[in-house]
Amino acid sequence: MKIAIVGAGAMGSRYGYMLHKVGNEVLLVDGWKEHVDIINKEGLTVEENGALNKVKIPAVLPEDATEVPDLIILFTKSMGLEPMLKSIKNILGKHTRVLCLLNGLGHSETIEKYVDRKNILMGVTLWTAGLAGPGHAVLVGDGSLEVQNVDSNMDVEAKEICDILSQAGLKAHYSEDVLFSIWRKACVNGTLNSCCTIFDCNIKEFGELKEAPQLIRNIIKEFANVAHKYGVELNVEEVAKGIEKIYDPSQAGEHYPSMHQDLIQNHRFTEIDYINGYVSRKGKEFNINTQYNDLITAIIHGKEQLIIK
Ligand code: NAD
Repeated sequence: MKIAIVGAGAMGSRYGYMLHKVGNEVLLVDGWKEHVDIINKEGLTVEENGALNKVKIPAVLPEDATEVPDLIILFTKSMGLEPMLKSIKNILGKHTRVLCLLNGLGHSETIEKYVDRKNILMGVTLWTAGLAGPGHAVLVGDGSLEVQNVDSNMDVEAKEICDILSQAGLKAHYSEDVLFSIWRKACVNGTLNSCCTIFDCNIKEFGELKEAPQLIRNIIKEFANVAHKYGVELNVEEVAKGIEKIYDPSQAGEHYPSMHQDLIQNHRFTEIDYINGYVSRKGKEFNINTQYNDLITAIIHGKEQLIIK
């Protein structure tokens, strides 16, 4: 299958590498020129559970992508999604399926501006990945993903895409309610990512704070109130208990969430506007009180201004 990975940073490189390994025709599309140039010159360096590999996968800048693929997997950061969709218009074919695996909320509405609804698939991925530098992906651990079609008539096609992904070892499951999973994951990111970034700590340290239990419940409650408007019913206590399990060092306790890595460690903008910021914006639209998410969004934006010069 012809697959374009659009946004080929850490996660895009992981998916591109795994899909390439089993014989798919993969193209990496990314706006970071240094990354694209190194991949074309030296191959993509993949450090997989300690073992180092160089893999020849072609890479192009978005404006240089011309061939219409069967499948596009979107893996930009949330704030890069719309600009990226604008710049790849000529590879969005009539039958090209577009799978979005970004974290965050509201992406399907953005994609619908550029892609026929019947071609859109939404997903949630539990795989992880990092970048050690341009052209160098670091892959650790195991994962899986859920996928569902946005148009209810396109389930057969969505299941076919799940098969292609699973053949590459990605463990894709067809979901009957991916919107629920997207909101549930957004609650994890909207508590752990934002709070660890504000407190400048890892997940275990955050979990040990006296304030943590009430704070996460207050945040999740606002997510649940907004999610309800979209027909998604989140059980605050169930979501909170799931998050509290992650504090354990045997889970991800020692880990600094990606927002912390982006802002505090790498001085990059965060996806806050698509997590807590989305709840805050939609709260205003629906007249729902989202004071915790309003404040968290403002603090993260303040930190971005102070840290990113
Ligand atoms: P990433 O930052 O690695 O890549 C996103 C974009 O940023 C790419 O276009 C990449 O080339 C560019 N980029 C990365 N480092 C750069 C640098 N130093 N200078 C210039 N450009 C740079 O993002 P990601 O971690 O692959 O995440 C993509 C999406 O997947 C996000 O929505 C994220 O929340 C989600 N996600 C990530 C993980 C993870 O483990 N990384 C897990 C699940 C979901």
